Amino acid sequence: MNVLNWAEPRSATITELEWVHTNEHIAHVKSICDVGGGYLDPDTPVCPESYVIALKSAGAWMDGVDKVFNGNSAFVLSRPPGHHAESDRAMGFCLFSNAALAATYALNQEHINKVAIFDWDVHHGNGTQHIVQTNQDIVYVSIHQFPFYPGTGSQMEKGDHDNVLNIPIPSGYGSNEYRQKFDEKVVPFIQKFSPDLIIISAGFDAHRNDPLAGINLEAEDFAYMTKRCQEIQPNFLLGLEGGYNLDALEECCVAVVNELV
Ligand SMILES: [Zn+2]
Repeated sequence: MNVLNWAEPRSATITELEWVHTNEHIAHVKSICDVGGGYLDPDTPVCPESYVIALKSAGAWMDGVDKVFNGNSAFVLSRPPGHHAESDRAMGFCLFSNAALAATYALNQEHINKVAIFDWDVHHGNGTQHIVQTNQDIVYVSIHQFPFYPGTGSQMEKGDHDNVLNIPIPSGYGSNEYRQKFDEKVVPFIQKFSPDLIIISAGFDAHRNDPLAGINLEAEDFAYMTKRCQEIQPNFLLGLEGGYNLDALEECCVAVVNELV
């Protein structure tokens, strides 16, 4: 039985954000917040505090990497999420690419040579994929409703090094069909790469009660995937992405944490 410890995050530095974002993007987010807030894209409003909070959210993912290096699993319960943020712009509620940043941070450590990102959010993580697909030391695998926002994530997108696996699924998918895709495609893809670190972009908007999407998972399905990932790597990092029914979000987070402890 492991113990659940809560931790306050540090803030990401500008230098760290520049590993995955243009300086112009970072400055733009800051400038809009400095003048009182506004819209970074039609889905992405920010308030004066959003920039500072986004730095903390990104920092939390790197703190999570440190926790894994110290022999624990970590679940980053932070927002804003990150997987839609492109290197040069905010998008879809996302300001900075937390998962790509965490992967890059991990690869800067001497003993880490390969990182796998598994994105189980119901949307395709266009930003994460675009940022990491040129890096042969990172693989990105996503199961997502398709066709759906943001429009990317077809099976044809395989990355510059065959390091991307997109698994589009139609609206209406339930637990059985979803688990079959996970078992037959995601698990072997990650196992074959044999990563030193697994990062999960853990959105919970594939839950059946989520108001934005049409996939019908239960909280137990997320616990199942957590357990299977533990069989590949005992300790790994999860970070919150989407999930818009608060009751479902709570139920799913508890299910995942129960699996971890
Ligand atoms: Zn989502």
